[in-house]
Amino acid sequence: MHILMYHQVTPNINPDFTDYSITPRMFNTQMSILKRFRFTPINLTQYEDYRNGRSKLPKKPIIITFDDCYQECIDYAVPILKENGFTAVFYVPTDYVGKKSHWIMPELGVEFSIIDWKTIKRLDLEGYQIGSHSLSHPHLAELAPEDCYDELKKSRQILEDKLGHEVVHLAYPYGSFNETVRDLAAEAGYRTACTTEEWFCREEDDVLLLPRVNIMGYSSILDFILKLHFEGRYNTTREWRRFTRRKIRGVGRLLRRIRDNIAKNS
Ligand SMILES: [Zn+2]
Repeated sequence: MHILMYHQVTPNINPDFTDYSITPRMFNTQMSILKRFRFTPINLTQYEDYRNGRSKLPKKPIIITFDDCYQECIDYAVPILKENGFTAVFYVPTDYVGKKSHWIMPELGVEFSIIDWKTIKRLDLEGYQIGSHSLSHPHLAELAPEDCYDELKKSRQILEDKLGHEVVHLAYPYGSFNETVRDLAAEAGYRTACTTEEWFCREEDDVLLLPRVNIMGYSSILDFILKLHFEGRYNTTREWRRFTRRKIRGVGRLLRRIRDNIAKNS
């Protein structure tokens, strides 16, 4: 199964944020592709129930996740999700709710508006799943364990207080984790956590270290289809071409060997 990772969806792609942005038009096409190939988006509770043997998954399950909760992303992506009847998971960095994404500024020189609590509550009521993306979007693996625990525990607590129900899903900011971070996430009460490790999700995966498939701004439609059907790392047409070229060269070598053997024996 694949867990798709999105960040920004906007018609005005910032040139410094192309890796993490796709246009609403592209997002719409991708959702149509999911529909056409009969994928069924599920949420992490359904996945958790499946992993605990409590229920089965639908045929061709897929999980759609969004990190950071940019206002534009919600404005453009949610109507498209709704149109398709798709569920999704939104990970909130709680310190930034109703503010701007200051954490990107030092690295990329851009920032975007983050949705407010009213919008988060609306998404929650509409059946989308809300997860934590820490308090302040730090590299958790670089923090002292007590600070890391605070980021995990407090953000979860804030979300639970605001939403009035339990919140047990987490995405590690920057995909920054290590064994300690993983164990602290468990201690802080999380039952699933997503990384940014680019891979498809396997039965034996640690539910607190779930890999995802990054949908990059430069992914083409062909990339997207390949990502959906290829269980591995060959996730862009560029890599895919490199991979097939290697295979073709391998077959070429084999054919030459066979030809030389025939020539030798005749
Ligand atoms: Zn993030």
